[in-house]
Amino acid sequence: MRTEELTLAGFRHDVCSAVQPMAVATRFLGSLPLYRFGLRWINPPLALAHPLDSGGAAILAESLEETCSGLGKDGSWYRRLMTPMVENWPAIERDALGPIGWPRHPVAMARFGVRALPPASWTARRFKTEGGRALWAGLAAHSVLPLETWGASAIAAILAAAAHRAGWPLAVGGSQAIADAMVRYLRSLGGEVLVGQRVENLGEIDGAEIVMCDTSPEGLLRLTGDRMPAGYRSRLQRYRRGAGVFKMDWALAGPIPWTAKECSRAGTVHLGGTLGEIEASERSRSEPDQPFVLLAQPSLFDTTRALAEFEG
Ligand SMILES: Cc1cc2nc3c(=O)[nH]c(=O)nc-3n(C[C@H](O)[C@H](O)[C@H](O)COP(=O)(O)OP(=O)(O)OC[C@H]3O[C@@H](n4cnc5c(N)ncnc54)[C@H](O)[C@@H]3O)c2cc1C
Repeated sequence: MRTEELTLAGFRHDVCSAVQPMAVATRFLGSLPLYRFGLRWINPPLALAHPLDSGGAAILAESLEETCSGLGKDGSWYRRLMTPMVENWPAIERDALGPIGWPRHPVAMARFGVRALPPASWTARRFKTEGGRALWAGLAAHSVLPLETWGASAIAAILAAAAHRAGWPLAVGGSQAIADAMVRYLRSLGGEVLVGQRVENLGEIDGAEIVMCDTSPEGLLRLTGDRMPAGYRSRLQRYRRGAGVFKMDWALAGPIPWTAKECSRAGTVHLGGTLGEIEASERSRSEPDQPFVLLAQPSLFDTTRALAEFEG
């Protein structure tokens, strides 16, 4: 949640997260009075567009009906797939995104599981059109897992349901604005934030009732030393990282002249082509020739992010 002038003065790029479906669709973040502390959201007209070489683009809109009608022949299948998840979102959100344990809403979770557990490749092939298949594959590719993996559809289902509950918003001014508002709120409650202080060992934190470590497994191991039970330590040691991501920031002279006009209305554009092409990209563990690309274009919707006049 940082926004910096990474390219040129006047161009404010998000260092990592740019598009924030979970910040508005989840109960806890939604319950914080961040509006009072300066946070404003923008919902682009479309959450997502997925252009195809064959012409046009599949779309994910906040409205389930608009999405279904954009999917043409696949509209009714998508409606059947997504309606239970959208309607049961409060239950699914709590169980699917909360700590792992016995679900509080087993029926809703069972219905979610039936849709979310099969590999994304299978679910995508239940769509009849190239656009529908590519849309599902692109959503599942957010998992950074091969689409043949069991469970890879869960992320697709969660992201699509979140879009239909509250869109995929961007924070005005960039994601840093979320952190800034959260810090202001915390300070208003008497909290304090210390930055630029690396904690090497949990022993340095004395007297805290609760310590929460938002670190990698290796980081947690270093911090906790022998404090963790041996079994848990060995699980942390066995942890292996998955594929990494590569990011590029662009300072553009103007909006991208998309051929598929839907792309100019979308906060996020999936550049990955067909289901087959996305599968090949996500299967490749090294550098794929045609990587699946998530493109965010905040400056189309937020004038604070780029210079209006710029000779690129
Ligand atoms: C290129 C990229 C694009 C992304 N885009 C999106 C997006 O559009 N939408 C989305 O929802 N998500 C996106 N993500 C994912 C998102 O950025 C992360 O999920 C999110 O930042 C995780 O937040 P966090 O607070 O849990 O961890 P972090 O942001 O990693 O924060 C953990 C902090 O703890 C600090 N820390 C760690 N160890 C110590 C220590 N020993 N002592 C002191 N400090 C320590 C770290 O320096 C860091 O500041 C993206 C990620 C990347 C890499």
